[in-house]
This record gives sequence, structure tokens and C-alpha cells, in this order.
Amino acid sequence: MNQMAWTRPGRIELDAWEKLGNPGWSYKDVIPYIQKAENFHPPSNETIKAKVLAAEQPWFGKNGPISLAFCEVSTGLDETIRKPLGEYTGVWSCPSTFDPVKLERITAFKGYIQPNLDRKNLFVLPEASVAKLIWKNNSKPNGNGEFTAGGVEFIFGGKTFVAHSAKEVLLTAGTLKSPQILELSGIGRPDVLNPLDIPVLIDLPGVGENLQDHYCASAVVFELHPDAAYRTIDLLHDPVEYEKSEELYKKKQQGLLSFTNSDVVFASLQSVSQDAEKLIELHVKDLTDRIASMDENTSKGLKEQLDLQLERLKDPRLPTVELIPAPQFMDFPNPPQLDANALEYPLELDILTEEFKFARKLRDYEPLKSIIAKEIAPGDNVMTDEQIRGEDFDFL
Ligand SMILES: Cc1cc2nc3c(=O)[nH]c(=O)nc-3n(C[C@H](O)[C@H](O)[C@H](O)COP(=O)(O)OP(=O)(O)OC[C@H]3O[C@@H](n4cnc5c(N)ncnc54)[C@H](O)[C@@H]3O)c2cc1C
Repeated sequence: MNQMAWTRPGRIELDAWEKLGNPGWSYKDVIPYIQKAENFHPPSNETIKAKVLAAEQPWFGKNGPISLAFCEVSTGLDETIRKPLGEYTGVWSCPSTFDPVKLERITAFKGYIQPNLDRKNLFVLPEASVAKLIWKNNSKPNGNGEFTAGGVEFIFGGKTFVAHSAKEVLLTAGTLKSPQILELSGIGRPDVLNPLDIPVLIDLPGVGENLQDHYCASAVVFELHPDAAYRTIDLLHDPVEYEKSEELYKKKQQGLLSFTNSDVVFASLQSVSQDAEKLIELHVKDLTDRIASMDENTSKGLKEQLDLQLERLKDPRLPTVELIPAPQFMDFPNPPQLDANALEYPLELDILTEEFKFARKLRDYEPLKSIIAKEIAPGDNVMTDEQIRGEDFDFL
């Protein structure tokens, strides 16, 4: 499902998890588990040179089930895009999740489930959808008022079943569905559960709140001169080019079809905008007021988290922006009701605007300048901050 980019969370971010009341989740605690998953294949000397990689990469694990490697195919544009940025700070290549010998994509299924399918204590039921958790002791709390999950109710082939756990239940249904399953099981805000006739077992105001996503801004699209010496993935739209690439891939597992995008830019607002300090100052007050105005029903963890985020916003060492173009269609039964909290804080649109202007500036610097024929989107009719933020430009 994902773009195969293997990027680890940063030290400051993982340490913040622990600070928020999760002992054992600091950087030093989590990294050994990430290394345990990794089976890193070192890049060739040519790739080290082409992608400007560190020659030694000792921080990756070598014996795990998830193969990692650097894509050997370079379109040429990756290096070109790095040059105008001057410094490499915040601009780097990450390995991708594939086996460089078989040139096969590696997924959690291939790495963890497939090799263990004949184990007697593993049973996977695809297409089953969990409806809710069921509880031990007939849904009664223990002496400390705690409930213990004892299994799940799930739907399979249109029928409802129950699976009891011998030991424990791990709920890992993702950002949207995990809170939904908790709510369907009676854990959450009473004002959400009561109207749905779901008995409230645990009044927990943080469940289903505080969704923070990184907005995907369709920033700026350039068309290259036809004679530019670069091969983009767009070439695959041409049936003749596709056929050639397919043949090359089938015979030698090379060419555009073996390409993975591994270059990433994580940048602070300070490094993409001259107005960063002014914008941050403006919004720190807004966020501080919001934190101060939160009442006793707000989860304590949320307040602490916002305090930490406020510190991070001011820290130029930490990234605020990343661009991810990801056109996609996803479908899933029983979608949860969801408020994406999009642009809840004015700073978010300010950051996206600055990020957009920064990305557009690249067209004015060599070596991109001489290979770009024109800007396709949004085009020169969108120039001022008002136009960039305006409704006519489908920015988000
Ligand atoms: C398009 C896209 C590209 C991405 N690219 C990258 C990338 O290159 N690198 C990277 O590091 N991250 C990437 N990410 C983010 C990454 O995929 C997620 O952060 C990660 O998958 C989250 O893992 P998870 O286990 O929390 O949840 P998920 O991976 O969402 O797993 C949850 C699972 O629970 C199942 N489920 C949900 N509800 C139920 C139910 N009721 N019953 C039974 N099963 C259920 C779902 O089917 C799913 O399999 C990308 C995300 C997207 C959307």
C-alpha cells in the first residue's frame, strides 16, 4: 500500500512519545525493534556516488525479515532536484522496502506472515472485519475499575462470530479504525456513544479526537523541455515506452518499472520561508490561548502534547514541512465518521503557502531552470499569496 520508503521516526519525536506517558517508547528503546525488522542490503559504489550516500550505513539491522535497499535506477532528476537546495540538510535518500536480488517488493505479509504460514499457532482470516471487542467477566470491571479485553466479535461472509483470546488482544486497526472499534466497544466520549445506544464502559474523552494528519498539497507541476536529458516515470504513459520497459523488467528486472522514489525533503519552516519567525510568533500566541482555554474535559495528554508541539514549532532543527504527491483511491466498508481537523489552525495554511512558494522557486535555479519548459500547475495566473490561498486554486 505505501510508497516503499523506509524512514525512521526522529529521536526527538520518539522521546516525546515517552515523555507523554509511554515508558519504554523512547528512541533508544524503539530503535532496536526497528533494527530487528531490517535486512539491509548495502548499495553499490555507483549508487553511493549517484545518490550522494554515506559510504557506510552501520545503523541499519541486517538479519530481519524486511529487505531494504537503495533503488539503483536514477532518472537523473533526483540529483538535479537536490542541487538547487544547496545544502543537504533535510534532503536525503531513504532505502526502499524491496529485495534487490529478486527485485521483489517486500511487505509485512511477505516478511512476517508468508514464511510462517505453516505454524500451528498462526491463523489468518482475510476479509474478516472486527465489529467490536468483547470483555472478560461479562463486561464487568475488576476491583480497580479496569476492564480486560477477552476477544473480538467479527463479521465474516455476512455472519457474526466471536473469537476468544487465550492471552491478550492487540488492537492495530490503524489511525481511523482503531478508535472506531474502541468506540463501538464502549470506550470513548459519552456524548458520542449515548446517541448511538452504545453502553459506555469507559468514559475516555481522548478516543477518536486529536486526529492530526499531514496535508497533501498538490504544489507545483513543471513540464520539462522535450530534449532534456531526463527520463521521468511519466514516460510509462506512452504504450511503446511501457512495452519496452516491461520487456526490460521481465528479462533483466531493470529500467523504469523497477524504480522506487527514495528522495525526501523534511524541512523546518525557518529553512523554506524568510517569514518563518514572524509567522511562528503570530501563531504561538493563538495556540497558547487555545491550550489555556481547554476545560477539564479535555484529555490531559492532549494538553501535554500541544505544549510539546509548541516547543517543536520554534525549533529550527525539526521539520515542519514535507511534500507528498499521492493520487490514490481507497475503499473500505463501514467508514468511521471523521473530522480531519483540516486547517483548524491558521498556521497550517500559512505553512502550506510558504512551502508552495519554496517549491516553485526551484524553477528559477540551475540546473532545473534550463530544462523546465513551463509550469503546468497552477500556472502564472496564481502568483500572490491571496491567489495561492484562494478558492480558485485547488491547493489541497
Ligand atoms: C498512500 C500512502 C503511502 C504511504 N507511504 C509510506 C511510505 O512510503 N513509508 C512509510 O513509512 N509510510 C508510508 N505511509 C504511511 C504508512 O503506510 C502508515 O503509517 C502505516 O501503514 C500505519 O500502520 P498501522 O499498522 O498503524 O495501520 P494500517 O497499516 O492502516 O493497518 C491497519 C490494518 O487494520 C485493518 N483493519 C481496519 N479495520 C479493521 C477491522 N474492523 N477488522 C479487521 N481489520 C481491520 C486494515 O485493513 C489494515 O490492514 C503511507 C500511507 C499511505 C496512505
